[in-house]
Amino acid sequence: MYTPYLICGYVATLSFVLIGFRVIHRTSPDLRGQKHLSRFLLSVIASLLLFSARGRLPLFLTAVVPNFLIFAGAVSVYLGATEILQVPPRFLSWQVNLCATALPPSLWFTYVHPSVLARLLIHTVVLGSISAFTAAMLFRQQAPAFRSSLRAAAWLLAFVVIVQALWAAAAILHPPSSDFLHIGIVDTAFSYVSLLLGVANVAALMWLSLCIHRGDLHRMAQTDALTGLLNRRAFEEILCRELPRADGNGHRLGMLLVDLDHFKRINDSLGHHAGDEALRRIADVLRQVTRVSDVMARYGGEEFVILLRDAGLQESAVIAERVRIEIAGLRGLPGDIRLTGSIGAAIGHGDESPSALLLRADEALYRAKRAGRNLVSIDREPFVIH
Ligand code: GH3
Ligand code: MG
Ligand code: MG
Repeated sequence: MYTPYLICGYVATLSFVLIGFRVIHRTSPDLRGQKHLSRFLLSVIASLLLFSARGRLPLFLTAVVPNFLIFAGAVSVYLGATEILQVPPRFLSWQVNLCATALPPSLWFTYVHPSVLARLLIHTVVLGSISAFTAAMLFRQQAPAFRSSLRAAAWLLAFVVIVQALWAAAAILHPPSSDFLHIGIVDTAFSYVSLLLGVANVAALMWLSLCIHRGDLHRMAQTDALTGLLNRRAFEEILCRELPRADGNGHRLGMLLVDLDHFKRINDSLGHHAGDEALRRIADVLRQVTRVSDVMARYGGEEFVILLRDAGLQESAVIAERVRIEIAGLRGLPGDIRLTGSIGAAIGHGDESPSALLLRADEALYRAKRAGRNLVSIDREPFVIH
């Protein structure tokens, strides 16, 4: 194969991918890992251009530097993957040491004892090892939500390792020719597969980055930033799903609406920061009092709602009372204030609308407020069993 044509094709392919990356960067600049993956593409393009200048530039620039640019690109892929997954780059020093170790033999087989085969073997071993580190890091991640994109990226890197090993074996059996302008079919095939795998790798990592980004956005859209609890919208989605199943027997659903008493006074006397801190502490109390299966949300400013799965009137009343006592007993709040909360409890009927249930809980809460606050009031509407 005539090498300059091959290199032109590779550079064109990688340049298109790089342009695609720039477009993605314009539309979604906060996607993680883009910078490192672009660096990978740039280093491979630069290394190919240097390879193609063989005979016109010094041997160091056209034989040694290109290999190390490709290694640097592989390290960038690793750094991109760690940035996407937000894990520390623990293997970085190993990879850098490996590259540094490869320099003396590369120089030896370029100047002292020139050998294309030896240089190819060094290239495959270093590139295969760096890719193996990255693949191992990806395989070790436990992220069920991104399983398919994570596995795709990990397996593609594992293929890089396999291809590099096969290339090394093939080179030993059929040593590459030293005529740079015409490389054999075996080396052409391996270089082409390596290019495809490189492009597939960055695409898979971008896909992983997109999946994680989408997951982050979804979580942000459902979470209350101050307390970390679910927000009202997320809560109502869950309520709409769960309420139709409530039949009072097998599927019982209790709802507690908690409103802090005289909360405005805290803001007025201590400021909004103190109020915010108090709200965070109350959210912690609710997390401690409820079960993992219960759903908690910040329903409004100083109002919280709890959906008690499999809790009837009795259980809901008991939990509501526990919540009330815990709030009243909370110490160490800003300014050493004491807080109390009023709670309205209601039991869900599968044939009513979510807003009807919320209204009944709200009416119970209103009764608790009117009766003097720091109280639990239960909505005693008789349960209709179908
Ligand atoms: P009541 O016992 O009748 O419920 O009295 P209240 O003062 O708690 O009720 P009101 O509805 O009059 O005031 C609620 C206050 O909650 C008003 C607002 O300043 C405060 N608040 C709402 N959201 C936040 C928030 O995110 N941070 C802080 N610091 N305060 C908030
Ligand atoms: Mg309120
Ligand atoms: Mg209040």
